[in-house]
Amino acid sequence: MKNKLLIILARLNIFYPNFLGLKYVKYAFFLKKVRFNNFNPFPLLSKTVIKSATSMLFYKDYSKFNINNIKDFESSIPFINKSIVMNSINEFTSPSLLKIKYDKGTTGGTSGKPLQLIMPKDRYIVEFNTFFSIWNEYGWNGHLRGVIRNKLLNKDKTFIVNPLTKEVIFDGFRTDDIYYESIYQSLKSLKISFIQAYPSSAYQFSLFLSKYNKDVRFIRAFLCSSEGVTKLQKELITGELGIPICEVYGLSEKLIIGGPCKGNEAFHIEPTYGYFELINEDGLNIKNPGEVGEMVGTSFHNDLMPLIRYKTGDFAEYVGNYCSSCNRHLTLIKNIQGRWELNKIFLSDGTYVTTTALNLHSDLYKFIDGLQYIQRQKGELDIYIIKSPNYTIDEEKQFKFHFNKVFNQKCKYQIIYTDKIEKETNGKFLPLKQLILKENNSC
Ligand SMILES: [Zn+2]
Repeated sequence: MKNKLLIILARLNIFYPNFLGLKYVKYAFFLKKVRFNNFNPFPLLSKTVIKSATSMLFYKDYSKFNINNIKDFESSIPFINKSIVMNSINEFTSPSLLKIKYDKGTTGGTSGKPLQLIMPKDRYIVEFNTFFSIWNEYGWNGHLRGVIRNKLLNKDKTFIVNPLTKEVIFDGFRTDDIYYESIYQSLKSLKISFIQAYPSSAYQFSLFLSKYNKDVRFIRAFLCSSEGVTKLQKELITGELGIPICEVYGLSEKLIIGGPCKGNEAFHIEPTYGYFELINEDGLNIKNPGEVGEMVGTSFHNDLMPLIRYKTGDFAEYVGNYCSSCNRHLTLIKNIQGRWELNKIFLSDGTYVTTTALNLHSDLYKFIDGLQYIQRQKGELDIYIIKSPNYTIDEEKQFKFHFNKVFNQKCKYQIIYTDKIEKETNGKFLPLKQLILKENNSC
């Protein structure tokens, strides 16, 4: 009964997300105005550098750089990274911090010691506006949405409702068929066509949808973020079930955000959110499609803890600077590799392969319901596989053939069949659990 009332309230809530204050509306207009123009980031970039040089201890010498254009910026400003910021954390925050209200955050917990972050209270103006403009590509415009992420609910509850944010929130940890049936029935009867989920939750739920041959035509998209979407997940969700995935890449540091458009699944890096660079090993900007480099970001909207030329530790492949599908001029990238060090599998001869290099042929994904690599020792790897009902000895042979080829006798691996792959305590799924680096990794 209570839920019914809250659903009615959520539906009546016509403000979210179109009216979250005047500043919000103003920023929404700004985004619309620059959307199809070749946005010039220099004024915002220059403002960040000048302001930081006068207010932050760490950047005090930056006033000596004569920054008159992007080229000056890219050729003179040094890079920083997480450990530099952590080691001089007090020099990175504004002295005026004591007097004003701010929000705190941290970087993700899977990559060593988290970094404490400080953000202005009105951060949501940029954050929501940008996020929602990406979802809008897939037709979302304030629709009620289902959420399957990291919420743990009491067993007697199927979902809870937040009428302010128009969310119908399900338990992200219960994965049994009975519970999935109630999620499905709830979504269908409430006519919820957008599902915000971790990719691993979307996948798990999609396995259920596929197993019982459910009608999924009412689901318009999975809105995914926080984890990368793996090939296995995409094969099932989009390939087999035909449900689009709107995969948004973002960082806790709030420097870079990007998502696909309807006609192009490359990440469209939003140019108004922060200044984005993709750099090669020499620190030079990559401009050639196909080249892989590290993602670097500069804050546009954080006066309290601005980060300038911050190396994220995430890598990606450059695609181009124009999308003909949505007619926007912005950087396009693909194949994002989260926290580089954690994506490596170390071989017995001291070299490594990345999880991307282990990608299986698409056909093989049809025979499995889950896959996770765990490395505990250099040159050894445990490959956990959840078999689907059509998995036979032939597929096992194909898997072994594939891994033998990739590892070339430099990694002793074993395939371990399992019924369930555990998620991390924060509800997220790691395609590779790299335990060698876990202890001393600080990147
Ligand atoms: Zn596009």
